[in-house]
Amino acid sequence: MNQRRQKPNICVFSLRTRSRRGAGGLGLLKPALLLLSVTLFVLVIVPFAITSLFTAQETQEQTPTQAEAAPKEEPTDTSDIQQESVPASITVYRSAIGKTEKVPFEIYVKGVVSSEMPSTFEEEALKAQSVAARTYSLSKYLRAKKNGNPAAHSSAPVCDTVHCQVYQGKQELKKNKGSAWMNNDWKKISAAVDATKGQLMYYDGQLVEQALFHSSSGGKTENCEDVFAAAVPYLVSVESPYEEEATHQKETETLTISEFAEKIKRTYPGKSFGTVTASNIKIRSHSSGGRVETMQVGSASVTGKQVREALGLYSANFTISIAQDKITFTTTGSGHGVGMSQYGANGMAKAGYSYKEILRHYYSGTVIL
Ligand SMILES: [Zn+2]
Repeated sequence: MNQRRQKPNICVFSLRTRSRRGAGGLGLLKPALLLLSVTLFVLVIVPFAITSLFTAQETQEQTPTQAEAAPKEEPTDTSDIQQESVPASITVYRSAIGKTEKVPFEIYVKGVVSSEMPSTFEEEALKAQSVAARTYSLSKYLRAKKNGNPAAHSSAPVCDTVHCQVYQGKQELKKNKGSAWMNNDWKKISAAVDATKGQLMYYDGQLVEQALFHSSSGGKTENCEDVFAAAVPYLVSVESPYEEEATHQKETETLTISEFAEKIKRTYPGKSFGTVTASNIKIRSHSSGGRVETMQVGSASVTGKQVREALGLYSANFTISIAQDKITFTTTGSGHGVGMSQYGANGMAKAGYSYKEILRHYYSGTVIL
C-alpha cells in the first residue's frame, strides 16, 4: 500500500557523483576526472532523472485521486474505547408475515449482507459491509433496549426492510436465489462475516450509531447534515474515487413541466408553488458533496432530497435541462450519499485496500475492534 503512494526521489545521486577534488590536485588527472564526471553525468544521471520523471508522471496519472482515498492509520491506543459485544440473538420483525423471529445475531448479519450487497463484490468490501451492518444493528438493538422498540415495529428492535436493513433468512435466500447461490455465494458471504466476527466500529470511544451506507455516491459522499437532520462527526463528505463499476452512474428522467409541477405539488401540499413555468424552475445551491441543496420551483423553495423523493430519482445529485415544455433530470450515483459507498468500497477493495481501511475512509475517525 505504502509503495503505491511513494514517489521516486530523483535527487538521491546528484551530490555523490560529483567530483569534489580541489584545484591543488595532480594537473594531468584533471582533464581525465572532468571527462569521467561528464561521462557519468551523461550515462547515469541524465537517464536516471528522465526515467524518474516519467515514473513520477505515470504514478500520478494512474491514481489521480488516491490521496483523497488514503485512509488514516490504525490507532495504537484503544484503551479508552468502551467496547461492546453482540448478543447471542436478535428479534427481527418480519414485515411480510407481520410476526417476529428470533435469529442468531451473526446469522442475522449474514442475511443482511446477502440482501444489501451483491455477493459478486470483493471479499474486503463484503467484510466492510459485515462490520457496518453488525454495528448498525447492534446500535438499534441497544437503543431499543434503553428507549423501547421503534414505533414502526413495536415488537422488535429491527425489521427486515429498508426501514432498518433488508434481511432474508437462509430459507428465503435459497428460494429466491437457488441452490447454486447457496453453495457458492452464501459461503463467500458467510466467510466474510465470520472473518470479522463480533467486530464493531467506534468513534470517540463509543459505538458508532449511524453506520449508514448507500449504493454509489457519484464521486463524493455527503455530510450527514446536508441529507438528514443532524450532523454526525464521522459522516462527513469524503472523495469516493473508485466507483467506475457503479450501476446508475448517469440516469435521466424526462417529464413535461406540468407533470413535474403536478408531482411536486401532490407530494408537498403544504407548500404554495403558484404557477410553475420553465422560467421559475432553478437550482439555487449545492451541498459540499455536490448534491442539489435547494431548488426554486414556482414561488416555493424545495430541497434536492424532496425533489428526489417526489420523482423517485436515483439520487439528489442531479442537473436539470429545460427545453420547451419538458424538463430532464440527469442524476449521478445512487442513494442518499451518506457514509459508505458500496461500489466505492468494492473499488477500493480491488485497488488493494483492506476492509478496515475502507471503513476508516468512509466513516471518518472511526476505530474497528
Ligand atoms: Zn425497521
